[in-house]
Order: sequence, then structure tokens, then C-alpha cells
Amino acid sequence: MGEKVCNNRLNDHWCDILDTQFGLTPNTRENIYEWGANKFENVINLNLPCISGFIRGYQEFCKHFATEPNPRENRWLSAPFFNNPKILWGQGRNKKSFTPGQFGLKKDAEKLTLGDLFSNQKPITRDALINKGYNITVLQRNSLEKHLIKLVGHGKQFDATPKKVTVKCDPNKPTPGHLIDNIKDYMSSFKKGSAPIRKIFTSIKPLTLKIDHKKFNGKITGDKASINQITTSLKNLQCKYLSNDYLDYKSRALHGKTQFFSNLAHYKHNVQKWCKHCLEMGIRTSEDFEHAVYTCPQVQYIMHMVKTTLDLNCDIRPSVCIFSCPRPPDATKNEISKLLIIDIIWMIVMKIILKNRSEESRICEIKVMSELKQNLEMIVRNFPSHLISHNIISSNLILKLKFELVQ
Ligand SMILES: [Zn+2]
Repeated sequence: MGEKVCNNRLNDHWCDILDTQFGLTPNTRENIYEWGANKFENVINLNLPCISGFIRGYQEFCKHFATEPNPRENRWLSAPFFNNPKILWGQGRNKKSFTPGQFGLKKDAEKLTLGDLFSNQKPITRDALINKGYNITVLQRNSLEKHLIKLVGHGKQFDATPKKVTVKCDPNKPTPGHLIDNIKDYMSSFKKGSAPIRKIFTSIKPLTLKIDHKKFNGKITGDKASINQITTSLKNLQCKYLSNDYLDYKSRALHGKTQFFSNLAHYKHNVQKWCKHCLEMGIRTSEDFEHAVYTCPQVQYIMHMVKTTLDLNCDIRPSVCIFSCPRPPDATKNEISKLLIIDIIWMIVMKIILKNRSEESRICEIKVMSELKQNLEMIVRNFPSHLISHNIISSNLILKLKFELVQ
């Protein structure tokens, strides 16, 4: 009990100091959720005991909360436009974040988000800004427009159309944390914790990622994956070019969530450990992870077909097809993007294999090719100016699939 009172007092005391520093009152305190991360620099530099450290933590959190444009959520549009270290103007080393004063705007404009400054996918008009209560001259508005056009659009830093995507989630349930687009709602999505400040700090423990390379290498035989191949394959599980469906299948299988027959047979009497496809051909092979996603003759057949059809420059080996292509240390950006395409292709193939397996159906070559084609077309459509799209087109991957499909 005593501890609780003490903590609350301490929190109140800290809040008082922050209120003074930031010019806030308890009622306007939540405004800090709408500020750009650079606004906290002053308080951090004051080196106040505890507080400066916490605020630095929160600043880090702000920076990490922002995402790149993606088809799942709208955090990039909800990011504050002013004082944001990720939204800069100027040249080279002299790049600076924007401030309201630069456009003759008052301090209250600092909560405007990047998305607020666009309407109907165009920079907001002067009238619309004035209607929202922000007085701005014609010249200042035009200068703002110029900056906005430089920042957002195809081939620009924010390589997307400034339009909110529809978030896919159950409307009857609270929005899951990773789909919430602004810090204010994100913070109030937690049930536990008392003071709003405390909530922030409990959610910013840095994640240390420890990868058990031995465990992953234990999944394949006769071939070894390098630490880099395994790390890349785990990074690829966050790949923005594939939909979650593909990422989930692979991630479940890699992390041992998918049960294979050799495993199930241990504790289910009615399950045999043999691979069903091989059994149909009269061969008894125990079905484990590697057999199901790589060694099984029907999987091998599909993999070789995909490699030949697309003329892929890679070895068909467990370390490559299950994990990822090795990235040579001196590889150029362009070469890495080509390797990523191959990784993406094997990720799609793995999902098709695992899906057929769970549905107990045979893998159909035509479906494999049309699913590959669909996905490559989608990447080119959604990320037209990305290097990956350029490489998909220049290596004629879609054309090769189309050609095979009409045969
Ligand atoms: Zn088999």
C-alpha cells in the first residue's frame, strides 16, 4: 500500500515537472501523444534525474511506432508532420524537421499529422486549413504544398498515395494493437497500469532477439544454413511484399507449430508417421518437417519445375529453399533485391505445399504457377517504383509464367 502511494506521488511529481517543461496542464497532458519526437529533445538535454531517461525512452518509442506505408495500417499517415525526425527537408547533413513557425502557423498546429495535410490525395488547400482553425498566408501555404509534394508519392520518401487503407479486423472487437494507427489510441488500448506515463514506459522495453541457429539448422539434414541465411529467413517473415497468409504458414512451420506425421504418430494412435503422397506410390517415408516442405518427391518436382520455368539463378538445397538465398557480403542493392525475389518465390511455394498438405490434396502445378503470377503482379502493382518491381519486370518472371500457363 505504502509503495502504491509513494509511486503515485512520484508519478504526480514527475508529471508536474513535465507539465512545466512542456507547458501542459493535467487536462492537456495527452497532447504529448500527438507530438513529433524532436519536441522531447529539450527535456532530454536537461538531464533531469529519471525523467530525462524516461522521456528518451518515450522518444525512442515514438520513432519506432511510425511505419513505412503498407497495405495493413495507417501509422505513416498518422505520424506528426512537425518536429518529426523522420519527416525532413533540406539537403544532406543540413536536413531538418519541419516546425509550425516555418509556415507562420501557431504552436497548436504541431499536432497536425501528415495525413491531415492531404485531402482527396492532394495537399490541403488554404481554405481548408483556415476552416480547421489554422491561419496561413497564400505564400506559406504554397511553400507547404511544395514540401508535401516532394515527400509523398511514387518514388518519393513516402512511396504511396496519401490515402488511408481499410484496416482488416473484426469490427465487433477492439482493434488489435499492431493495427492501431495513433499513439493516443494505442496507449488507451492497454487495460493495466495507472498513470498514463507509466503505461508508456512498460511498453518500450527493447526487444532483444536471440536466434537459436542450432535449433533451426537441426531442421535440415545433409545441408547447413549459415547464420545469415537463417537470420534473413526470419527477417523475411516480416516481408511487406507478401500477405500475412504466406508469412504465417512459413512462420508456423519454421517455429515448429505445424505438426508433422512423424511427430503426431508419437501420441495419436490413429495417425501413421508415413508421408501420404509417398505412401500412395507405395513408399513408406516418415514425414517430418524437412520431408514435407522439401524432400518429398512431389515437392522436389514442383521446386524443379518452378526453377526451370522462371530460370532462377539458385541452387535447390534445403538451406536455400527452406531458409533463404545466401547474400554475398559484397552484393549490390540490385543483387540483393534479386535474391529477395527468389526468397519470396520459395516462400510462396512453401505456403502452397503446406496448404495442400493440410487439405490432404495433391499439389497442382498450374495452381502453383498462377499463384506465383498473381503475387508477382501484385508486388509490381503495389510497389511500382521499388527496385524489386523493376527486377521482376526486367527478368520477365510474369511473362514466363503467363507463357507456361497458356501452354
Ligand atoms: Zn513424401
